Amino acid sequence: MTKPARVLVLGAHPDDAEFHAGGLLLRHGSRGATIRIVSVTNGAAGHHRMHPLELAVRRRHEAQAAGRLLKADYQTWDYPDGELEPSLELRRRLIREIRHFQPDLVLTHRPYDYHPDHRAVGQAVQDACYMVTVPLVAPDSPHLESDPVVAFMCDLFTRPVPLRPDVIRDVTAELPQIVRLLACHESQVFEFLPYNQKLEQPPCDPDQRLEWLREWYLRFMKQRMEAFREAVLEGLGDSGKSIQCIEVYEICQYARKPTPEEIAWLFP
Ligand SMILES: [Zn+2]
Repeated sequence: MTKPARVLVLGAHPDDAEFHAGGLLLRHGSRGATIRIVSVTNGAAGHHRMHPLELAVRRRHEAQAAGRLLKADYQTWDYPDGELEPSLELRRRLIREIRHFQPDLVLTHRPYDYHPDHRAVGQAVQDACYMVTVPLVAPDSPHLESDPVVAFMCDLFTRPVPLRPDVIRDVTAELPQIVRLLACHESQVFEFLPYNQKLEQPPCDPDQRLEWLREWYLRFMKQRMEAFREAVLEGLGDSGKSIQCIEVYEICQYARKPTPEEIAWLFP
């Protein structure tokens, strides 16, 4: 199965896709995949100084810069950041989006996550999974003959259940490009993140800033590596010990169940 895939990321905020699936999206991009990233909210709550309206515009531009690097269509919807609910209206919009884009793979959040917007998107996508095939639901958009594969992006939360690592990919080789993708979200990684996590201020020099971000991302990855260490070593043996960066996905059981060949195609 070598045809380029159609990949749709349904995330809550501009930058979620890059944080959790940047390596996978880069690989799909290099294989000619058609990629669309949707930030369901406008990102207007992610700052400590900026006016929300100005921030929403800035984050839209940041997302588009990341989209250019990925050769992806990056959309930012207008739901207010921090106030998303898994409403029927949102579910219908997601059903139409999935039907219209016809993805082979959908990536989203788990409904168990610290952020209410992440939970809301994850719940609404999960609720849309089967419904995309039901003609009388949202009948103004033609239904799909079969579900796409839906996978949850990585989180480290354990209640009520931790993420099941159905797919683990070593993305250490993509580290420099992932850091460049994240750096597109300047308002987040160089401003709000240091404020919110009470970190030292990043340097002003562009190269030093990237190095600062790289070191932050490696600390972020260390936690992920520790959480999935057993699964990494089980899957990759001793070669797993040299890995610095991984992406981990759980296949949603309410959508299409991929064969091993489809897993290899959708998670190169
Ligand atoms: Zn987010």
